[in-house]
Amino acid sequence: MIDMNFERSIRDIAEHYGEYEQLIQTAEECSELAKAALKLRRAYADPDVDAETQMNSKAVLYGEIADVLIMCEQLMHLEGCAGDVMHIISEKLKRQMERIKAGNRQEVSG
Ligand SMILES: [Mg+2]
Repeated sequence: MIDMNFERSIRDIAEHYGEYEQLIQTAEECSELAKAALKLRRAYADPDVDAETQMNSKAVLYGEIADVLIMCEQLMHLEGCAGDVMHIISEKLKRQMERIKAGNRQEVSG
């Protein structure tokens, strides 16, 4: 994804803990990302939330995005499925773009 140090770190960490542990860690990180996304969404919707609070919520979201990406990279390493995942992403993006072009804005992305 980024460089050799990144790939080596992902591999070493993934193999140190193993898939059994990293599956539960991934679930926990996804839960934290979901909470952070909802918190920022609430901050955007609330006119009483100040700019500093919004910035803090953004910082938390960015950290949780990083955590989830790190876990996904580890799972792809452990499963050896990066190529399959990239193919699925490509197909999903293509399908969503077709929906958008067809004017179907009710469909939720993802
Ligand atoms: Mg986290």
